[in-house]
Amino acid sequence: MNIYEVLKIYFGYEEFRVGQKELIEGVIDGKDVVGIMPTGGGKSLCYQLPAIVKEGLTIVISPLISLMKDQVDSLKEIGIEASFINSTLDGQELVDRLMDMRRGRYKLIYVAPERLNTRNFKSIVKNINVSFIAVDEAHCISQWGHDFRPSYLEIPKFIQSFACRPAVGAFTATATKYVIDEIKSLLNLQNPIELVASFDRPNLTYKVVKTSNKYRYLIKYLKSKHENGSGIIYCSTRKSVESVAKKLQEKHIPVVFYHGGLEPEIRRKNQDDFILGRARIIVATNAFGMGIDKPDVRFVIHYNMPQNMEAYYQEAGRAGRDGEPSECILMYSPSDVVKQKLIINTDGLSQERQKILLANLQILVNFCHANDCLRAHILRYFNEDVTLEKCNNCGNCLDESEMIDITLESQKILSCIYRANERFGVNTIIDILRGSKNKKIIQTGLDKLSTYGIMKEYSVYVIREMIMTLISKKIINITTDKFPILKLTKTSINVLKGKEKVEHKKYLLVEENKETKKETKQKQYEQYDEILFDKLRKLRADIASNKGVPAFIIFHDVTLKEMAFSLPQNKDEILDITGVGVKKYEVYGERFIEIIKEHIKDKEME
Ligand code: ADP
Ligand code: MG
Ligand code: ZN
Repeated sequence: MNIYEVLKIYFGYEEFRVGQKELIEGVIDGKDVVGIMPTGGGKSLCYQLPAIVKEGLTIVISPLISLMKDQVDSLKEIGIEASFINSTLDGQELVDRLMDMRRGRYKLIYVAPERLNTRNFKSIVKNINVSFIAVDEAHCISQWGHDFRPSYLEIPKFIQSFACRPAVGAFTATATKYVIDEIKSLLNLQNPIELVASFDRPNLTYKVVKTSNKYRYLIKYLKSKHENGSGIIYCSTRKSVESVAKKLQEKHIPVVFYHGGLEPEIRRKNQDDFILGRARIIVATNAFGMGIDKPDVRFVIHYNMPQNMEAYYQEAGRAGRDGEPSECILMYSPSDVVKQKLIINTDGLSQERQKILLANLQILVNFCHANDCLRAHILRYFNEDVTLEKCNNCGNCLDESEMIDITLESQKILSCIYRANERFGVNTIIDILRGSKNKKIIQTGLDKLSTYGIMKEYSVYVIREMIMTLISKKIINITTDKFPILKLTKTSINVLKGKEKVEHKKYLLVEENKETKKETKQKQYEQYDEILFDKLRKLRADIASNKGVPAFIIFHDVTLKEMAFSLPQNKDEILDITGVGVKKYEVYGERFIEIIKEHIKDKEME
């Protein structure tokens, strides 16, 4: 069988994604490889497909236990013998699997790095034919990466222990040169074939949201946009994870939560609820996610700012692995930036490291302030040539909302900051502008300022919104103190003197701002028969719950949608659907065809 046949028959796909073919051919030829692809880019296929073709066993080293089970289940579904070895197995299970491994039962074995250098694992590996070692999430080996795992340092030792070293492949979504170099040197890769796929994820709509009331935005978003799709909401601390989750539960939005402080069983249960589709939404710290290969995540919301672009892109990239339109929303707030800075400043880090971290944070802050294409910003960050200056599928490209001139208002705000001697934060400045009778204002004599009450007619919300925009445009500077203070900048003077105009999106200055975003362009098969899709989904859910596996392991949403669009009614037709390979056809195909046929009949009778 050639690799296209394997791709079609086992995986049900017609074509390789960018980079896959070269890497797969390299692995089959016995070469070392480095595959750098964005999250969802299809790295697993690069070692799974060769494993089927090659003689012997492929060892996959992977950091997360949750990932192993899903991948092994998926492989079994398409008729490939695979298994995993990690701390979830009891003694007998471990012995059984090691025996099966020795007998050559598996094509792939997933192993946690901690297990590699154990005596029983090594002694078996020594006596069998290992064709390839795949190091997944390889950036975990780098101390400079954002996901360093000390256990990954076990890997070089393991590789060196082979009398005849198998080829080694490293796979990661991290594109930083420094990290890549470290991966290559620590794993001692030999003239590897290196492939960097494009980091563009066309199906993802990036959006930065600036709102003074994140929670309200979130509720609206969840209620209006995503009544069905599943999503991840990232918060920066355990405390905010719990409080956001609690608030959403009070609103009867089905969420579970996840952070490192939970009991392992609860963590595990919540994660399973999300992956198996029992809970639609998970609120989590960044401890959640690596190795979560759930393909149908329709949105990822960052309720707080991440630390840098690298981390942001990886987390946001967990949306839409199945290629379907999905949204990545980053909620920007200046106070989050301040918090991140405080963490960086107090970590006992070297000056040099602090500088790097601050510079990395600033890149993300600039991203949030961008007025032009967000996708172009991301791709430039990952060193890609940007050919299209406008992607027409990001918050900025899609935003055609009306702009209004707020130069006068800006001047009022700036002169208030000036009159108050640049000593106060957002709240006090708003109080002065609105002529508040607040005790603190009166006692400190701020009511005597000439700017006291000059914006009486504006709500707190609107003034705050304007201040946030002025900060984002660097017309106001916000300090990194514990209680951030507003300061003037060089540009403030230009605005005050009327040399520079300030514009603002109009709808953001209406308190109940209505989202008027255009729907993203839909694929042709998005015109599928929705009733049929629901029927197919129901069948899939029945099969999945009978087997105790997540629904996507049976078929992805894309596959069902395509069925509900093309209406396959026999073997050949259904094998043409993306994601239907021979094995899955044999096990489930006819049941799905039956539903489709029935549905067509019902419609004819109507
Ligand atoms: P990652 O690079 O993040 O590890 P995965 O290997 O989990 O990505 O793949 C992401 C999704 O893309 C999976 O659902 C997988 O089935 C799908 N996929 C991989 N290769 C192809 C392909 N050639 N055609 C269609 N879908 C693919
Ligand atoms: Mg992966
Ligand atoms: Zn764009």
